Amino acid sequence: MSIRRNPYSIDVIVPCYQEQDALPITAPKIAAYFRDLVASPSNDAMSFRLLLVDDGSKDSTWGIIEGLSEANPEIEGVKLSRNYGHQAAMLSGLSLATADVVVTMDADLQDDIHAVSAMLDAYESGADMALGVRQDRSSDSRGKRGFANAYYRLLRLMGVNIIENHADFRLMSRKALAALLDHGEVNLFLRGLIPTIGFSVMLVPYARQARVAGETKYTIGKMLRLAIDGITSFSVAPLRYVAFVGGGVFLGSILSGIYVLCVRLFSPQTTVPGWASTLLPLLFLGGLHILCIGVVGEYVGKIYLEVKRRPRFIIAERTKSAE
Ligand code: UDP
Ligand code: MG
Repeated sequence: MSIRRNPYSIDVIVPCYQEQDALPITAPKIAAYFRDLVASPSNDAMSFRLLLVDDGSKDSTWGIIEGLSEANPEIEGVKLSRNYGHQAAMLSGLSLATADVVVTMDADLQDDIHAVSAMLDAYESGADMALGVRQDRSSDSRGKRGFANAYYRLLRLMGVNIIENHADFRLMSRKALAALLDHGEVNLFLRGLIPTIGFSVMLVPYARQARVAGETKYTIGKMLRLAIDGITSFSVAPLRYVAFVGGGVFLGSILSGIYVLCVRLFSPQTTVPGWASTLLPLLFLGGLHILCIGVVGEYVGKIYLEVKRRPRFIIAERTKSAE
């Protein structure tokens, strides 16, 4: 399938949260890379815009973005009113995209920018999405790698269709982007939504680099939040498991009731020796109860957030909003 597409424009979306150490190094590199791409005759890219989204940083990230925007005609800054999280920040950039093609990537250049040219090749030959897939996770900490592996296994168990080792480094055509933006959900897990959209998808392998500067902005809390969103936004399996466990426990209690009755009726012994046999099941059942209510509560909470239809992000400021 070799459909050469007409010359196209590119919007590059980069969410930035507390990236004052990385941005001064990475943004010029990203801009230079796309400048070369546009100038190169080997593809049909004709122009690009780098959209830096400040996700409510408290450090000097916004000042840096303003400076970059002033000095470079292709760079534009968008400031969100507070920290909405990586997914919402990316979505805000995507919703402002006007180009034929959008590329999303992290601000720390962990996503190997050289994979973009393979993504453009995929687009030029007809793909509507090109997804960056990490080949190598050695730049991640051992804990993070273990967490990721266990999480992918859990997702599969829950029946969530996800492309393994694809995070948020991807190219989308205008058509695929429009389809993605049609999804109005508040609980965002973009990498889970992507496989549900369809269209022709190509995978582009790349080696995950180490962070250029600064620390990871994904705290354990943020990672857990995203992980829970990933499961509860796409699968009702946990609710089903809870029902199964509840059924099992109910059956167990009936059997033990029969046993107690038999002992009472047919055994001469009338006192129950030891307290452990009473206390342990009590604690176990109590804990199980609270856990199950928690799982159900997680879904009820999701419904609560969805029905309110609150905006998923609020834009406070833009550097080149006049155009
Ligand atoms: N990020 C964001 N909002 C947040 C946390 C992170 O926009 O609340 C951005 C961050 O600036 C970076 C990207 O999301 O561009 C990925 O974050 P990070 O590199 O810290 O995560 P890691 O690569 O360690 O998983
Ligand atoms: Mg990173």
